[in-house]
Amino acid sequence: MARKLKTTPRRVKKRNTAKAGKLKMARRAARKTIRAPKKRSGEKQKHALIKSASMNSSLPRESSRALSAYDVVLHNFDLAADKLELSEELKLLIKTPDRELRVELPIRMDDGKLHTFIGYRVQHNNARGPNKGGIRYHPNVDLDEVRALASMMTWKTAIADVPFGGAKGGIAIDPKQLSMNELERLTRTFTSKIDCIIGPSEDIPAPDVNTNAQVMSWLMDQYSRRHGHSPAVVTGKPLELGGSEGREEATGRGIAYILRETTKMYGFDLKKLAVAIQGFGNVGGNTVRILSTEFGVKVVAISDVKGGVYNPRGIRYDDAIEQEKTNGSIAGLKGAAKISNEELLELKCDVLIPAALGNQLRRDNAERVKAKLIVEAANGPTTFDADEIFAGKKIPVIPDILANAGGVTVSYFEWAQNLQQFRWEYKRVVAELEKVMISSFSAVMAAAEKYKVSPRIGAYILAVDRVARATNLRGI
Ligand code: NAD
Repeated sequence: MARKLKTTPRRVKKRNTAKAGKLKMARRAARKTIRAPKKRSGEKQKHALIKSASMNSSLPRESSRALSAYDVVLHNFDLAADKLELSEELKLLIKTPDRELRVELPIRMDDGKLHTFIGYRVQHNNARGPNKGGIRYHPNVDLDEVRALASMMTWKTAIADVPFGGAKGGIAIDPKQLSMNELERLTRTFTSKIDCIIGPSEDIPAPDVNTNAQVMSWLMDQYSRRHGHSPAVVTGKPLELGGSEGREEATGRGIAYILRETTKMYGFDLKKLAVAIQGFGNVGGNTVRILSTEFGVKVVAISDVKGGVYNPRGIRYDDAIEQEKTNGSIAGLKGAAKISNEELLELKCDVLIPAALGNQLRRDNAERVKAKLIVEAANGPTTFDADEIFAGKKIPVIPDILANAGGVTVSYFEWAQNLQQFRWEYKRVVAELEKVMISSFSAVMAAAEKYKVSPRIGAYILAVDRVARATNLRGI
């Protein structure tokens, strides 16, 4: 955590050399990206926004890599909205993000140099309740990705039937290159810049990739300096600051419940399954732990950003976590074969659980996937052309917006506890989470059955229908 940034971000160099031009450009960029809450008129403006959003991809459209994360979400949304026969007006209203904020984050680094980072917060839809969604620190964070993730949060909260809308935020940064002090300054500056749009009844952030309970603590503290003690402004906090029992493991636990329900439905024997999991962070790590230590599932492969390991006889969670703690990576675990992340995805196994980043299963590798079932723990790991390949190969894909909803569900419990200034016991959190995951699974599968579509489009149908009903009831 103590290493410094090695290179000066391009934006910073530009800033130093062309100050006057930069001001102009920044104003123009701000005008483009900071949008006021949706106006009722302006159909044209919205069409233009949708068009520009889906054209945001920097890669050619012929390749599956060209599909931006937001393209994939819009595609799934459109399929669901068409099945529901929503009017064009309502479709446009619901799929368009409410508000998009891009902020410049100048940080004085430990060596005294000034670096400028870029952060985003996108609020997609709040028809069913305050905006809700995580904050990601990753070099690939950009407006398109945050927009896609914010939209997914709208559908996820609707599926879990928790009273939230959808949002997401992030900073384009590799946090491993920053010291703890730099990370704290960055988080506090980001919080101050988005302070005007977050709040316990407005928008409630949470952890996502490379952010954790410590980052949430700084965020809560910074917000509270201006607004008074406000634990409900953020979820995923440490217990000492009003976090909920069971929040940290909630996404992984939810995945385990969803896998159990899925195996019942498809007639697999849970205890005979060989499972491969990409990602060994919060979600992947807790999924490995709960599946292997509580559900008796054999986890045969695990990977992280540095590589993976495979043992057909199964990997013990205690060995895996010990390896990760002492070496900073699962790669190199003794008694297991070394594999790459690509090899893990294409491994001969029963269940594949992508639990790292988006865009992992694409047209160029989907054909080689041998798992019999895919459960999406990460957000957006499958592109829609890969989805079509899996449908052709009769590999069911349990979608992210259902499978990983355990995190936001316990975030809802945490928020409710904060507002009531009351604490739930771990047993209660787990029991309530299990109920939500089972009922969400049943509702998604019922929608898929009713409309004769995949579980993913069934999930979108259920979610879009709930959001459309709320929108109509509130009045446009
Ligand atoms: P994390 O930062 O705790 O862990 C990410 C893991 O992915 C790490 O093991 C990292 O080494 C690995 N990884 C990173 N880049 C990789 C790459 N290129 N190839 C293979 N592995 C790579 O993040 P997390 O909170 O566990 O989130 C993982 C996924 O789950 C994300 O898609 C996130 O949006 C989603 N998700 C998280 C939550 C939550 O509660 N944290 C809830 C819902 C969904």
